[in-house]
Amino acid sequence: MALLQLQGIGKIYASEGAIAVGIRGVDLSFDKGEFVCIPGKSGSGKSTLLNVISGMDSYEEGELLIEGETTSHYLEPDREAYREKYISFIFQDYNIIESFTVLENVELALMHIDDRKERRTRALELIERVGLSSHVKHKGSKLSGGQKQRTVIARALAKDSPIILADEPTGNLDSQTSKEIIELLGEIAKDKLLIVVTHNFDDFKEYATRHVRIYDGAIEADELIAEPTRSAKAIPETCEKSDAESTEYPPTRAEKSNERRRFITKRDISKGATLGAAIFKAKPKLSTFLAILLLIGTLGIFLLTSICSTATDVFSEKYMFTPIEGRVIITKRSGQVITDAELETLKSELSAKSYLHYDVLLDQAYGNGVTFTEENGDLHYEQMTATFGEDFGDDIVGRYPTESNEVLLKLPIGYKTVFGKDKLNNVSISYGPLELKVTGVCYYLDNNLTGKILFTEKGFEEATASHYLFSRA
Ligand code: ADP
Ligand code: MG
Repeated sequence: MALLQLQGIGKIYASEGAIAVGIRGVDLSFDKGEFVCIPGKSGSGKSTLLNVISGMDSYEEGELLIEGETTSHYLEPDREAYREKYISFIFQDYNIIESFTVLENVELALMHIDDRKERRTRALELIERVGLSSHVKHKGSKLSGGQKQRTVIARALAKDSPIILADEPTGNLDSQTSKEIIELLGEIAKDKLLIVVTHNFDDFKEYATRHVRIYDGAIEADELIAEPTRSAKAIPETCEKSDAESTEYPPTRAEKSNERRRFITKRDISKGATLGAAIFKAKPKLSTFLAILLLIGTLGIFLLTSICSTATDVFSEKYMFTPIEGRVIITKRSGQVITDAELETLKSELSAKSYLHYDVLLDQAYGNGVTFTEENGDLHYEQMTATFGEDFGDDIVGRYPTESNEVLLKLPIGYKTVFGKDKLNNVSISYGPLELKVTGVCYYLDNNLTGKILFTEKGFEEATASHYLFSRA
C-alpha cells in the first residue's frame, strides 16, 4: 500500500467571481524512500499541490489517501491532526528563530519529549546528522543561509513525520551551498518521502529518484530516475515506530481534546517553564513589555480594591447605577442611546410610575456629600445617596417633601441630636450648589449605612442636574 495516493485531485480557487484552476486531475502515488522533484513554471500549480498534500488546503475533486485511508471528508481539525502526524515543511526562507541557538531551535521541535536530557541528546544527534555540530551554540542570526537551512532540516527531522515537503529549499542559496543541502536532503529521503518543488531541476537530478513535471495544473510527466533507496541501515528505530503506527487513523477530535484534558504533571510544568523561557528569549522586548503591562494592571487593580471598602465594590453595579427601590435599568444591546419616543413607548408599556431620561445625572448623584450647619454654627458632613419616590415609612419627624427645594433625610441614628427628637431643629443643608430645606428626618440604627436624601421627582431632577454641572465646573 502506498504511503500517499492522489486520485484525480482537483483544486479550484474562486475569488471575487473569478475562478482559477490550481491543479486538475492529478493522479500520483508516493512511498517512503522517494526523493520526488517537481519543477515547473511559475503559476503551474506547484504550491497548490504541496498545500493539498500538506493538508493546508482542502480539495474539491478526487481523493487523497494516506496509508490507504481516505481524507476527502476531513474538516479543518482533522486536517490539523493529519498535518501533525504526517507532515514536515522546509521553506525557502528558513523560518528559524534568530535569537535562538541552533540547539534551542531544534529542541523546540522536540517538545513532545518530556525528559529534558533525552530531548537534548536527540537534538544533538539530529544536529550532528545535518552536519552542524560545530555550531550548536551559535545563534540563528549568526548563521549563514546554508547553516540556517541545515537547522530547518534538523527541525523537520525532529518532528519525525513520514512526509517532508520542501518549497524551493535552495532558492536563497549559492550554488555550492545548494549542492550540499541537496545532498543532505538526499540523505534524509532514505527513510522518508521527500517532495521538493523547485525551479532548478538540474541541481537535483543527481539525487532525486523521481521527476514529476506539472504544467497548467496537470501532471505532464512522471518519470523514475533512480531506484528509491530505503536502506535498512538508515532507518532509525523511531521510523519502525511509525511503521507500526501505520494502520492508525489520525487522532479524532474527541481523542485530541481528551489528550488536552489530562492532568497537568510536574513535567508539564517544567515544559511550560522551558517554553516560557523560550518565548522570552525569542521576543525579549515584547515579553518585557507585556510583563510590565501585567504588573501595572495588577497594581492598578490592587490599588483600586484597597481604596474601596471591599474588593467586590469595584465591580458592583452600585458604582454604576444608583440603587433606588423599584428602579429598572434598561439599555439597548446595541449600546445606542434610547430616544425620547422610545422612552414614551416603554413608559406606557411598562406602566412605569415615572422615568428619568438623563440617567447619567442620577448616577452622578450617588454618594455625594451633604453639609449640615447647625444653629450654633457646627458643621457636619455626610455622604448621601440622592433618591426620589421612595417610601421611608411613617416613623418620621416632620413630613415628606412637596416642593423641589425640600428634602426628607434618612440618617444614621447619631444625627438625632443634630436634628432634634420631636421637632426639627433649624439646620440648613447644602447639596452641591443648592441650599435645601429639611422637612423631615428619620433614622436607621446602623451607623455604617449611607444616608439617603429624598427629593420630590422634580427636585431630584434639578438637584442631580445642578450637582452634575457643579461637579464638572
Ligand atoms: P506555482 O506554485 O506553481 O507558482 P500556484 O500553485 O501558486 O503555482 O498557482 C496555480 C494557479 O492557481 C495559478 O493560476 C494561481 O493564480 C492560482 N492560485 C493559487 N493560489 C490561489 C489563491 N489563493 N487564490 C486564487 N488563485 C490561486
Ligand atoms: Mg509557488
